[in-house]
Amino acid sequence: MANTIAMPKNIVPMIESIGMSNGLTSVFIEVLSISGSMLAKTNREREMTIWLAQQDQSVVGIGTVGFDIDEMPWTIDTFEEEKDFMLRMIAYAITEAGWEKLSYKPRKESVKPCLEQLQTMIHAFNRDDVNLDNYLEWSEIDEDDDRPTIPPGYPKCVKHEVYLSCHGCVLCNNGS
Ligand SMILES: [Zn+2]
Repeated sequence: MANTIAMPKNIVPMIESIGMSNGLTSVFIEVLSISGSMLAKTNREREMTIWLAQQDQSVVGIGTVGFDIDEMPWTIDTFEEEKDFMLRMIAYAITEAGWEKLSYKPRKESVKPCLEQLQTMIHAFNRDDVNLDNYLEWSEIDEDDDRPTIPPGYPKCVKHEVYLSCHGCVLCNNGS
């Protein structure tokens, strides 16, 4: 089993998908959650980070967290800021920002090429490719939900300073 991150099918030129083992996927999500949590200044930036942190195989299932780039919660109005933030998040993860929070040493020769491929994908993804329904569905507030998709007030893990998703802290859940 494995996870694949892909561009939406209708985008040309075609960009190669990222195929990762389950273990590598966890590393990929964790280092992005760390760098995003360190950089996020606006609520939209926090939400992009939380969405990624939510792709937590320890909770939602091993080998089930692949996605297409247009499934991320992009919006139309602030798309360029969101795209810029994602590119900064990835670049910062490539510099190994905050990797000391992890209880293990990521194999950089494995994870960095995947991060670079994600950079290529985000670069090629444009406002016209946004499917706003994905954002609206994801961010919908259900008053009765005791584990809302976006935890109110954007709390962070006290140990790892990573934004909590509805599943808690992705680093704690994976043993760091
Ligand atoms: Zn934690």
